[in-house]
Amino acid sequence: MGWALGIDAKTSDERNGGMRGRGIESYAPASGELLGEAPLTTAAEVKAAVERARVAQRAWAALPVEERCERLLRFRDALVERAEELVDLLSRETGKPKHEALGHELFALADLMTWYAKNAPRILAPREVPLHLLKHRRSVIHYVPRGVIGVIAPWNFPLIIPFADAFAALLTGSAVVIKPSEVTPLIALRTKDVWDKSGLPEDLLQIVVGYGDVGTALIDAGIQKVVFTGGVATGRKVAAACGERLIPCVLELGGKAPLIACSDADLERTAHAVVFGGFANSGQACISVERVFAHRDIYPKLVERTTALVKELRQGNGSAQTVDVGAIIFPKQIEIAERHVADALAKGALLKAGGKRRTGPGQFFEPTVLADCTPQMTVMTEEIFGPIVPMMAVDNDEQAIELANDSPLGLNAYVFSSDRERAAQIAARVEAGSVVINDVFSNYASPEAPFGGIKNSGYGRIHGEDALRDLAEVKHVSFDRFRPPARDPLWYPYTEKSYRWGLRALRAMFSGQGLIARMRELI
Ligand code: NDP
Repeated sequence: MGWALGIDAKTSDERNGGMRGRGIESYAPASGELLGEAPLTTAAEVKAAVERARVAQRAWAALPVEERCERLLRFRDALVERAEELVDLLSRETGKPKHEALGHELFALADLMTWYAKNAPRILAPREVPLHLLKHRRSVIHYVPRGVIGVIAPWNFPLIIPFADAFAALLTGSAVVIKPSEVTPLIALRTKDVWDKSGLPEDLLQIVVGYGDVGTALIDAGIQKVVFTGGVATGRKVAAACGERLIPCVLELGGKAPLIACSDADLERTAHAVVFGGFANSGQACISVERVFAHRDIYPKLVERTTALVKELRQGNGSAQTVDVGAIIFPKQIEIAERHVADALAKGALLKAGGKRRTGPGQFFEPTVLADCTPQMTVMTEEIFGPIVPMMAVDNDEQAIELANDSPLGLNAYVFSSDRERAAQIAARVEAGSVVINDVFSNYASPEAPFGGIKNSGYGRIHGEDALRDLAEVKHVSFDRFRPPARDPLWYPYTEKSYRWGLRALRAMFSGQGLIARMRELI
């Protein structure tokens, strides 16, 4: 391991990825304690890492997918074996409660690994596509490894995001190089240590550490695909860099999830869902509830119940005590939260709970409820990525849908109603990659289902069968079914007769009056 655990404590204000020597210092957001230093990777080292990964990948790709699955499950087993150590570091480096480090990251990661490893042989198996016209040919689709895949990850879920994407890419036979966020490098390095000790080839999965320039260097190092999770602005840069190099990328960007509470919603469940959806991970999730549109019939009661539940939340150092809401991972998010609250209050919102940063050690912002919000407030239009839930009353479902769709982002959306048909109709019209009815977050915890956004929330999907196949390269192999003649009738030389034959075939097959076309309709 090229990093050491630090022992001296520092205040949270001193945290910010401060530099010491050639490394990035990582501090605990909840206490200011220096946790360790991760060595910076230079651009030349990134290139060398990708080259080593490519060499390791050749032997890996030669293994049958079943064998890759079996070996990768050793990594899962080793993670589970060291669960408490990983949960502890994850909780300390992000400031999230241990419950969340365990449940939302390690448990969900182990489950995704298990599902993918069980199903990858079926999903990646060669597939025959029946040909409707060229019956003398046989087409088989193969899912072949791409080479080296780069995974660039944010700080809010620094275990599950990079390692779930990496695991899926590895199953397809590629090698992976991960660039974790500069804010949370230690958990990535510790997880890499688990990988190395589980007997898997060291060069097959590598970590490069640094700031945005290391991400740029990774994209530039000759990789075959990028899976990026992060903000919209960085996503645009990543897409442009990938476009320049003509490599594909998956972009998992920001969200502004609306929660539509219909007049017939179960009040108690909706209030609990707003609170969990808004404050889990201190609201630092791309699928957090960021806007509540509640029908006037239930709005006053929903605000009242939500506020009461929020006031019961215990906030504190989640690695040291049992708390519900942890710290803010990235200090800049506190300033963003303050700006949103000030703007909302200046424009007439009512502060029902919280509203300010907590005094004392650590980076904390109180769980905040803002009522009577309007679309003119930044808290309703820009991503919050912090523990604030803005609420607004609407007259009917139509208005709720209109307001929900009035956003450049479209990742997750939530609908609460006792009437499944009504909820399904709303879901059909809400512009989002996923719509969850009477629940929050459960779509991300379903590895079978595709996850990703529309509009500025990005493109491409992670999770599910199609995402796994997309991590591989698609190769179509076309065989002859019968011994072919020396010369195909459609080949050279072109003649007047063959042209006339082509015209007759076109009319017969595709014109409404054509004999073959009419016969096809009858069949
Ligand atoms: P950023 O976009 O700032 O960074 C994401 C990653 O990209 C980091 O590792 C970052 O490095 C790296 N990076 C920065 N600049 C470049 C560049 N020019 N080229 C390549 N890589 C670069 O996001 P945050 O870390 O701030 O994460 C928060 C964002 O992530 C939120 O907006 C949130 O919505 C989004 N997100 C989306 C999810 C989804 O699934 N759709 C899930 C979770 C978060 P460094 O940290 O060193 O700057």
